[in-house]
This record gives sequence, C-alpha cells and structure tokens, in this order.
Amino acid sequence: MSKFSEELAQAFQTVSLRPTAQRYAVLEFLARRRVHATAAEIFDALNRDDPRASRATVYNNLHSLAKAGLVREVHGEGKAARFDASLHPHHHFVCETCGDIEDLPWFDLPPGFSRSAAGKREVRAYEIVFRGVCVRCRGTRGVR
Ligand SMILES: [Zn+2]
Ligand SMILES: [Zn+2]
Repeated sequence: MSKFSEELAQAFQTVSLRPTAQRYAVLEFLARRRVHATAAEIFDALNRDDPRASRATVYNNLHSLAKAGLVREVHGEGKAARFDASLHPHHHFVCETCGDIEDLPWFDLPPGFSRSAAGKREVRAYEIVFRGVCVRCRGTRGVR
C-alpha cells in the first residue's frame, strides 16, 4: 500500500465510515488533485475511469463523506458548492473576480478566540475564508 492510500484508509477508519470502492474513489480524486470541484465535475471525472458509476451514487457518496467530515463543502462566489478533501486543515481564498478557490496554509486562531466567540455553542471545526482578487486576475488588470 502506498503512503497515500494508507492515509486514505486511515481517514476512513478514524471516522468509522466504510470505505466502499466508490467512496474511496471520490475521496481519492479530491485528495489527489487538491481541487475544489463541483459535484458534477467529480461525477464527470470518476465516470471517465468507471462508466458504471451512476450520478446518484456519486452524489450520495459525496454527501456521506461530507457528513463524516472527510470532505467539506466550500462556497465560492455564487456558484455551485464545491467539494474539497479535508484531510489536511487549511483556510481558503475566494477570488471575487473569477470565482476561483485557493487553499491557504493553516494557522490557528489566537488561543481562546473561538471559545469566546462561540459562547455555549460546541465548535467542531472552523476555517477562515479570505475574499479578494487572485494573482491571475490582478495580473490581467495590470495591478502591481
Ligand atoms: Zn481570479
Ligand atoms: Zn481547499
């Protein structure tokens, strides 16, 4: 087993989700490409490798992965929800011009911040979404 597939198997084990072939394929696709893909894009990509995969199955698997916390939904600029493997914590940058979503390195909030902001709520996870203009879009606008 490669280190990568070991990591995926471990992730399934951690959340006690059965790693069916299709769930595995969905998570592997998202983790390997480091993309933020829509459900339709994930289906198209998996369907190229395995034409037997039905749209409903892929969508169902995507949602069970999301529910288990292995995949998370990322919201861009007024587009369909995108999905992202959440094996490694990271923050996001959303470009308001082209709608692209990029990963930003993880950093923690100052100690006590999430606790004081959350009050009596129980916080399971958090991420920060930065919004602005990506490097590519800045380039085409001639901004330095
Ligand atoms: Zn952009
Ligand atoms: Zn991401």
